[in-house]
Amino acid sequence: MQGHRARKRFGQNFLVDTHYIDRIIDAVAPRPGDNLVEIGPGLGALTHRLIERATRIAAIEIDRDLAARLRETWGPTRLALHEGDALAFDYAVLGENLRVVGNLPYNISSPLLFHLASFDSLLRDIHVMLQREVVARMAAAPGTSDYGRLSVMLQAKFAVARLFIIPPGAFQPAPKVDSAFVRLVPLGAARPAITDERLFSRVVGAAFGQRRKTLRNALVTLCDADAMQSAGIDPAARGETLSVADFVRLANALATG
Ligand code: SAM
Repeated sequence: MQGHRARKRFGQNFLVDTHYIDRIIDAVAPRPGDNLVEIGPGLGALTHRLIERATRIAAIEIDRDLAARLRETWGPTRLALHEGDALAFDYAVLGENLRVVGNLPYNISSPLLFHLASFDSLLRDIHVMLQREVVARMAAAPGTSDYGRLSVMLQAKFAVARLFIIPPGAFQPAPKVDSAFVRLVPLGAARPAITDERLFSRVVGAAFGQRRKTLRNALVTLCDADAMQSAGIDPAARGETLSVADFVRLANALATG
């Protein structure tokens, strides 16, 4: 791996299979002038191709050695490299209509998605590679076992599309699990209006925190059965049966009631 020793703590599995690199680049379809940021460029498997097509990109890399290599390979006119933690990064400094691309470290995928979601009004799209199971949860429909907090919180802001599966052999070192490539596009005008984001997040968290409980019991500290019924929600139902729109209606009713 070009003399680099993969660091486990940074979730380093480098993409080496050109077939999948091509498919990823085709799916992203970068164009000159796109405002692209790559999270975790690593040894540059995607970086190189993204810069070729978009002319100039930004990237965030936490590993000092890799950041130094990338700086050496690409000058600042082609690659605006931010050395640091993508979880703490202020994406607003990169401007609007931002396109996020990354083969994400799996150990931080959910917090990173929640962090990115807080910038949704600045984003054009997100294309990321994640553990297959995480992508299944992101894209899950109500009533399925994969449907949970991650599904509702992301689908309240984005259209989520699983694009394709990538096997462990496409990486070095090979991870133990399958990966999937996924696209998230902000809903924009179609996004449901949420009166109080924090309350929405608490309602969703409580509903799935106690998966086996009825909503009457799971949400006992947040609302009573009457409030649920007046929002058109059956208190005897379980959280996993509610659609994203149901959760929004319930949280909005609690915010105003
Ligand atoms: N994009 C490269 C590829 O596809 O071969 C590398 C992918 S590797 C799975 C994840 C990359 O993210 C590594 O380069 C790692 O150092 C970097 N990384 C890990 N945690 C990070 C964080 N919190 N912020 C920014 N980069 C991080």
